[in-house]
Amino acid sequence: MPAPHEELRRAPLPNAMGHVVLAFAERVLSPGDLAGLREQLWRSRTYLYVTPGPALVQRALEGFPPDVRALGERCPFHRYDARGGGGYWPDRNEIWLAAGVETYEGLRQVRLSACHELFHFVCWNEPRYRADEDRGFARLRRVLAQSREVMNAYPRYRDWITGSFLRQGDHANVVEYFADIPTNFRDVAELPPAIATHFAPLISGGPFSPDFDRDLIAEPYDLAAFQRSLSP
Ligand SMILES: [Zn+2]
Repeated sequence: MPAPHEELRRAPLPNAMGHVVLAFAERVLSPGDLAGLREQLWRSRTYLYVTPGPALVQRALEGFPPDVRALGERCPFHRYDARGGGGYWPDRNEIWLAAGVETYEGLRQVRLSACHELFHFVCWNEPRYRADEDRGFARLRRVLAQSREVMNAYPRYRDWITGSFLRQGDHANVVEYFADIPTNFRDVAELPPAIATHFAPLISGGPFSPDFDRDLIAEPYDLAAFQRSLSP
């Protein structure tokens, strides 16, 4: 999908009122009634609340290390007229996220979706992670190969890999894995140690491992091999 171009403009007051309505609906309605409300709203293409991009960056990166937040704040983050979808476009170095995510997927989901896209941006703009991406994530793939045999000692991680990540089929690739780890694991203690060390600068503010840029495997990236390396 090509990057959208047109920013959705929202008047601040109705937007703020829509937030009250949406938060209330999420709190009091049953899942069935909430789904019904969403279908009704979509008939008139209504967005109750659309978080402005810069505010969404702040909320999505709450609790992350200060330098990660500072980097994220540099990301042009746009909202556009669509019910769902969006992404990070490296050629433009921008994020576009559908305006409907809050109304149709929820106020919690919009932070997770924004967080995921922001870690694509971080990977592309943080020099050492970018160097690894440019080498086909060679370092990360080595770390994963090392972590496979200890996976069962990290049940939340293992269950997320098998029950969620790998279920995405072809979408379960190394680029998506990179953005999903900080989004889904805010506590590095839940990750196998080598993976925790690899992501520590992004999650807990820990240092890069001394061998982060060394000893890189040179095999070309292969999706099936990557997915096998993740399987317990
Ligand atoms: Zn992604």
